[in-house]
Formats: sequence, C-alpha cells, structure tokens
Amino acid sequence: MSFAWIGLGSNLDDPAEHVTRALTELDGLPLTQRVLASSLYATRPVGPADQPDFINAVARLETRLSPLALLDQLQALEQRHGRVRERRWGPRTLDLDLLLFNNRQLSWPRLTLPHAQMTRRAFVLVPLVEVAPKLSLPDGQALSESLAKLPDAASPRRMPEVVLPESR
Ligand code: ATP
Ligand code: MG
Ligand code: MG
Repeated sequence: MSFAWIGLGSNLDDPAEHVTRALTELDGLPLTQRVLASSLYATRPVGPADQPDFINAVARLETRLSPLALLDQLQALEQRHGRVRERRWGPRTLDLDLLLFNNRQLSWPRLTLPHAQMTRRAFVLVPLVEVAPKLSLPDGQALSESLAKLPDAASPRRMPEVVLPESR
C-alpha cells in the first residue's frame, strides 16, 4: 500500500462544488481510498490575475496504484469535470496535482515528485499543514517551515461553511 497527497484546485463553474465532488470521486478511484481531506480554502490566482479566485484543498489517499497509474486516474477525473487546457495557469474546472507519493523523488517526462512548485505555494502548504502539521518532504524539509518562509502564508482563507463529504 502506498500513500499519496493530492492538491485540488478549481476556479470555474461553482469551484467549491467541483472540489467537494472531486473529494468524493477520489475515494472511488480503483484500488484507492481517501483517508484525509483538508478544509476548503479560497485563494487569489497564481499567474494571470484576470480570473476568478481559486478554491483549493488537499487529500491524502491510500492506493495500490503506481504513481503513473494514479496520474492517469487524476487526469481522467479532470477530463470528466470538463477541463479544457488553454493557457498555462489559466482558469480551470478542476486541477488535480500529485504532490507526494510515499517518499518517491523522480523526474519523468509526465511526472515530477514531489510536485515541483508545492513548497512555493501557500494554497498547497496551508491545507497540508492543517491536516498534517508534521509532514515533511522526502529530503526531510518540514512543510510547516516551508510555509513560514512564504510572504503570502496567511493569504488562503479557510471556508468553514463548506461541509466535506465523508470517506467510505
Ligand atoms: P502546475 O503543475 O504548475 O500546478 P498545472 O497544474 O496547471 O500547473 P497541468 O496542466 O495540470 O499543470 O499539468 C501539466 C502537466 O504536468 C501534466 O501533463 C502532467 O503530466 C505534468 N506533471 C508533472 N508532474 C506532475 C505532478 N506531480 N502532478 C500532476 N501533473 C504533473
Ligand atoms: Mg496545478
Ligand atoms: Mg495540474
């Protein structure tokens, strides 16, 4: 059994609905169970600013899939949410990034682990530290320390009003 952390994001067509539905659907992927989910957070967009705010969250999965098989499943789920890839970092109905997979470190054409940008992004680190305050990278770097170094560490706004789906 492997564990994986997934970063979820949406800023189109009722983003909170896309993210909460995806949290349920992650639990339904083959050979996979969702064991933790963070709160939902609202964040200003990274990159092009002329687009709606994002809703972000993270989830921890237990899976018997390989990293690439899990990536295939995540991309298929993005497609089922009607994601159209236009400009980089542009608006999207659902983004599912594989943040961590066990303690794997790899750089393949389709997959970099840990996710290359995760330690620079408050919208990833704030929800991760919420549910896993002691989590660290494969190299031992504590994510709470990465977060403390970010100038915008306080920018994601927690949305306590959103009720999250139970896992199976
Ligand atoms: P970013 O990766 O900076 O958050 P993005 O999520 O908008 O940007 P996508 O369009 O979702 O980027 O993905 C672009 C490509 O990144 C995908 O085709 C995928 O193969 C590749 N990729 C590499 N590493 C990862 C990873 N850890 N998780 C998800 N996709 C990855
Ligand atoms: Mg992304
Ligand atoms: Mg992505």
